[in-house]
Amino acid sequence: IETKLPKVGTTIFSVMSHLAVQHKAVNLGQGFPDFEPPQALRDALTRAMNNGLNQYAPGIGTAALREQIALKTERLYGHKVSPDSDITVTSGATEALFAAIAAVVRAGEEVIVFDPAYDSYEPAIELQGARAVHIPLTVPSFSIDWQRVRDAITPRTRMILINSPHNPSGAVLSAQDLDELADIVRDTPIVVLSDEVYEHIVYDGAHESVLRHPELAARSIVVSSFGKTYHCTGWKVGYAVAPTKLSAEFRKVHQYLTFCTFHPAQVAFAEFLASTPEHYLELPAFYQAKRDRFRNLLAPSRLKLLDVPGGYFQLVDYSAIHDQDDVSFCEWLVKEGGVAAIPLTPFYEKAPGTHLVRLCFAKSDATMEAAAERLCKL
Ligand code: PMP
Ligand code: GLN
Repeated sequence: IETKLPKVGTTIFSVMSHLAVQHKAVNLGQGFPDFEPPQALRDALTRAMNNGLNQYAPGIGTAALREQIALKTERLYGHKVSPDSDITVTSGATEALFAAIAAVVRAGEEVIVFDPAYDSYEPAIELQGARAVHIPLTVPSFSIDWQRVRDAITPRTRMILINSPHNPSGAVLSAQDLDELADIVRDTPIVVLSDEVYEHIVYDGAHESVLRHPELAARSIVVSSFGKTYHCTGWKVGYAVAPTKLSAEFRKVHQYLTFCTFHPAQVAFAEFLASTPEHYLELPAFYQAKRDRFRNLLAPSRLKLLDVPGGYFQLVDYSAIHDQDDVSFCEWLVKEGGVAAIPLTPFYEKAPGTHLVRLCFAKSDATMEAAAERLCKL
């Protein structure tokens, strides 16, 4: 058959995790914690399964979980949303991103994305018969040049997709960035899709959610993921917050994409959010300790460490070790150096040829130490 996605192969996350197993490398590639979710959350999940909550959940998510998400959204971002009409629980942020794009973007339209861009965006756009317009972030700050965005707008621009804190760089958008964005989309039909899966992992100052910005919130779909917040990426539960009319369109896709999300986990999250709302408030300090520990462990290495304002990834420049491209370096590193990392090239339309790779520090001390020992030998 003729492929619909000629540019797509196996995602780099699967490729690197497979190589990590094959070569018995320490896996700092694919982003996932190697420690467990809170015990109380796991207990709540087990209880839900033992209490007969094993059949379909309501399609839009359980009422209790949507209520908790609404409370959190108001508490953190001062934004009032209706749990009934503005929040939809999804099977991970990946589903929410796909559903948002499918609900809004038509064939022939354009979606602006910023490179390096998380790898699920472009295939979702292409499957609509639409086109991703790539704008590179300014290296090494990975900031947005808003003039380039202005220049890229056409009558076909239907969506702008932002991601803060940013994967892979950890860069965060400021309140001024959101003002610039609001200025650009004002009086246009452009919908903003805001990927905020690392919303609770911001190190200095507060996360500037689009939901803090009333004008943007009125035209945005904001996506988050419980996998990142509660150390359970394998449970695949996320959600989308959007104004009522946009949510209604989003739900049309969601109901035929998955219909509903894993029921016992929704019950567990609702219970845990209600009993332990401080968990996500403690996340910045929790991950800052890991970040700083990891950076200290790598200080004697020949890797140059970039700043990490948010998220749980450390970008490192390996120019002092090798001059090969980042994909070759990662292949060499996993085989010869015993550490799996993620190259940045797969997240670019036109890779800038930087010598940067991504290391995940959502890891136990022992894992970080084992990786650092190997990386310091390079
Ligand atoms: N967006 C970004 C920026 C991510 O890093 C991830 C997960 N790595 C996702 C979306 C997908 O999240 P989920 O696992 O909840 O589908
Ligand atoms: N989002 C994770 C990362 O950036 C990986 C998710 C996946 O494997 N699809 O590493």
